[in-house]
Amino acid sequence: MMASFKPQNRAKIIATLGPASATDDILASLIKAGASVIRLNMSHGTQEIHYENIQRIRRVSRQLDQSIGILADLQGPKLRTGLLVDNKPVDLLRDAELILKASLEAGTAEVVTTPSIELIEAIGLDTVILLDDGRLRFKVIERLSPTELRCQVVQGGKLSERKGINVPNTPLSFQALTEKDKADALFAVKNEVDYLALSFVRHVDDIIQLQDFIRESGLLAKEEELPPIISKIEKPEALEHIDAIINASFGIMVARGDLGVELPPQKVPTVQKQLIRRCRELEKPVIVATQMLESMMTSAHPSRAEVSDIANAVFDGTDVLMLSGESAAGENPVASVQMMSQIISEAEDHYTALQSRPHEKSTLQSPHFHHTIAHAASYAAIKANVEALVVLSSSGQMAQRISKLKPHRRIIALTEDDKTCRRMTLLWGVLPLKIKYGETTEEIINNGEEVILKRKLLTSGDSILFCAGNTPIIGATNMLKLFKIGEAIRSAIGIL
Ligand code: ATP
Ligand code: MG
Ligand code: MG
Repeated sequence: MMASFKPQNRAKIIATLGPASATDDILASLIKAGASVIRLNMSHGTQEIHYENIQRIRRVSRQLDQSIGILADLQGPKLRTGLLVDNKPVDLLRDAELILKASLEAGTAEVVTTPSIELIEAIGLDTVILLDDGRLRFKVIERLSPTELRCQVVQGGKLSERKGINVPNTPLSFQALTEKDKADALFAVKNEVDYLALSFVRHVDDIIQLQDFIRESGLLAKEEELPPIISKIEKPEALEHIDAIINASFGIMVARGDLGVELPPQKVPTVQKQLIRRCRELEKPVIVATQMLESMMTSAHPSRAEVSDIANAVFDGTDVLMLSGESAAGENPVASVQMMSQIISEAEDHYTALQSRPHEKSTLQSPHFHHTIAHAASYAAIKANVEALVVLSSSGQMAQRISKLKPHRRIIALTEDDKTCRRMTLLWGVLPLKIKYGETTEEIINNGEEVILKRKLLTSGDSILFCAGNTPIIGATNMLKLFKIGEAIRSAIGIL
């Protein structure tokens, strides 16, 4: 039987929204090109702009009739340069001298500013300061005052506004959750953002601190409203207790920009592979991010190395790939998503089968039935060669478990709740679909079939595996059912 699915990638794409893409038309094009989650980087722009963009995403999502997740990325204790006169980037030439000054004023090529006084106070002579994920470097040659350092440019280039500053090996007493992060987290919760990303996570306490802060704000009516947290792995300390961090998070992001400055860059590919593997074992989503199509910021075509990097992340088994500056501030936001989508599609055509290992012994020895069901479902879907695995998932957890087993079958996740739909937009291979529930399992299955057929996701007669985890619906918990969709008399081949 021919699959009636439109071509759709399994690995998901997150596109960062920014000045280059914040119109309804461009946003719609990013989504049509394959982005299923939109990232708002709280490091840039104001809450007013982010609010407008949240409304924009919801509006376009309604117009396209497609669930779109929103990820708010908290800045964290990141040190940054200040604004620039006339907002214009400056060219910093190698060997030139300049002053790095703690000040809220706009900077120039002669005086680069930063709002962080503590940073300027803490830096000693001969220290090398890295800017913009290490693209530019200054060496400190003289202290002029407590707030001014004379520096020499050792690696030059164009410096734009508000670029990150890293000073490896200079211990700075960082607060994991800054006042700005707290304000942004509350803003995100009030506006029902679907995922919160936490920058520079070092240990589980950082995650708990954010969660407790949100709980104590009184904004949550119930615990389930706590947004799923994505821990950004960009500090070497995080690697020391990575299992605890992964377990405490909804998922993690391999934030290669800061990670490649905090660690020697040659260590990043190995760490990336290890993190992807560990997330598969612990059944948590993982995102690979930063500089994925960096050259497309200014060019219509990617470098061959970038294409390889994306394909290899897919081969490694990442669940999600992310675009940052490419879609937020580059010259080719839509083309970048299209290119990423094509690379994923090509890689998956050849390698998805290799990734799929549903009968691999899971390291999670869980007594819960839904865990067993997920494994059995992935196995049965392949064995019975069904067109799709249809998962009833009220909280999204069952869909997540199955997604991590990468069963090489379409996964259609049915839920009654818009929010759950949006929280499944990051899951590998999962197409979230809203349906009306019903009184009985039969009724729910019928409603699901109707929506699937109406949307032409499958055609009548296609075989499916229907699967439900710990849903609150009596009769629809912990079950598997194999049948042909749309046929009046279905043959229940197996019920567990
Ligand atoms: P992070 O450490 O969170 O990745 P970043 O500064 O590297 O922070 P990215 O989201 O990786 O930010 O985006 C790369 C660049 O794209 C930014 O440095 C900035 O110049 C630009 N950019 C991204 N989002 C925005 C935005 N909303 N407004 C303005 N510029 C943006
Ligand atoms: Mg970045
Ligand atoms: Mg970062």
